[in-house]
Amino acid sequence: MREPFQNEPFTDFSKADSINDFQEALRKVELELGQEYTLKIGSERIETIQKRKSINPSDVNQLVGIVSQADTALAHQAVLAAAEAFEDWKRVAPSARARVLYKAAALLRRRKHEFSAWLVYEAGKSWAEADGDTAEAIDFLEFYGREMERLAERQPLVAICGEDNELVYIPLGVGIIIPPWNFPLAILAGMTMAAVVAGNTVVLKPASATAVIAAKFAELLDEAGLPDGVVNFLPGAGSEVGDFLVEHPLTRFICFTGSREVGLRINEKASSVQQEQRWMKRVVAEMGGKDTIIVDADADLELAADAITASAFGYAGQKCSACSRAVVDELVYDEVIEKVVERTKQLKLGKASEQGTCVGPVIDERAYLSILKYIEVGRSEGTIVLGGKIGDSSGYFIEPTIIKDVDPYARVAQEEIFGPVLAFIRAEHFDEAIAIANNTEYGLTGAVISRNRSRLEQAREQFHVGNLYLNRKCTGALVGVHPFGGFNMSGTDSKAGGRDYLLLFTQAKVVSEKW
Ligand code: GLU
Repeated sequence: MREPFQNEPFTDFSKADSINDFQEALRKVELELGQEYTLKIGSERIETIQKRKSINPSDVNQLVGIVSQADTALAHQAVLAAAEAFEDWKRVAPSARARVLYKAAALLRRRKHEFSAWLVYEAGKSWAEADGDTAEAIDFLEFYGREMERLAERQPLVAICGEDNELVYIPLGVGIIIPPWNFPLAILAGMTMAAVVAGNTVVLKPASATAVIAAKFAELLDEAGLPDGVVNFLPGAGSEVGDFLVEHPLTRFICFTGSREVGLRINEKASSVQQEQRWMKRVVAEMGGKDTIIVDADADLELAADAITASAFGYAGQKCSACSRAVVDELVYDEVIEKVVERTKQLKLGKASEQGTCVGPVIDERAYLSILKYIEVGRSEGTIVLGGKIGDSSGYFIEPTIIKDVDPYARVAQEEIFGPVLAFIRAEHFDEAIAIANNTEYGLTGAVISRNRSRLEQAREQFHVGNLYLNRKCTGALVGVHPFGGFNMSGTDSKAGGRDYLLLFTQAKVVSEKW
């Protein structure tokens, strides 16, 4: 029997050894910056003429890597390679498939800080955020491996006399995996390997901003012994190959994490049947959030301020789980703002590679400009009490920004900003706070800070989000502990890291034999 799943521990960066080890990993990776990365289709590594530079968002003059870019002809080739590999991979025993994930987890654990260092340079993650991302990737591999072994045990069916019945979960076919740049290791590994362990083969189109870390993960899969063609690595512009992959008649499913706009487009494209297409495509989509923390009048205000600050500004607010709205009872409104401002002032804004940085850069120029525009909108929709300015111009730095007295229907209270911007909204009472929390088209995460039992119970029932947290922050879901996914425009509520997830990549077949 395999040992039960346990979450990978986070690194304690208060220890000198950990600091030294991490610094060494950063130095090692720095020497490897600027290399070239190819596509991998079947067993072939393909260099293209068209290339994209991946740069360090903390220092836009630093090149992280140069990545070959697929066109539609190569995308077609990748789908065919996945279709061919599927014929063998689907026959590999689930336990043997799971072993590739365990091996990949072991390799990743061995090179944990090195992978985290790539996340620091390419995604602009602080040390702790990068470490959390790598730990979560290890968790997904360990968790989904075990889940596949559990599913392979088959579902017990009710017995009837004279008949032998069984239900088996079989794979779907060729999947397109389109992960986000904000958890470029964890979510990429989770989406890809959940599909793969279930017996599918995939075309992995990484997010362009973080294609180097994706390439590193693809190399790791080779090392773990994953057969060629099971994961076809296909970096390329979404605008060039995205629709083509989704619309391809051999595509059986699409697993996407990213913006609402792209998710809806994929859903629409996937629903139209192409010539020679023999199935309805399945779409698993995790999209945006506009997540709220409610603070009740009798809450522990220190706890409330800690939870809001951590949820709003961790990874510069670039999590779909991030708290972008604090809805606070008017009796404690000013006090909570004051405490959050105090804490936020302590957060060091700076290069992600520097020890002690709490808030790093935002991912790229497009995000930078869009967030700055939202700050301008916020200026007219409320009062900026902290931040609002850019940081060092060598990278995409934006000060953690707090806007108070925002109307619940203002743009900064409704639209996903995906940056370090937090809006405070005043509520007259708890019922109103819940109504405000539910007033967006999203429904991903939320939290309530309260000492009042009946209000906590009310929130359990009425606060309509996929991941509701009581008396804690609303980010940092742990694999296996907090299966993750949201309602409404937040996506298909796929619950990554939960026991239902692998079912999304399988179909159940029942065989009944009359004795
Ligand atoms: N699972 C992450 C969390 O709980 C968020 C994932 C995302 O931003 O896509 O914070």
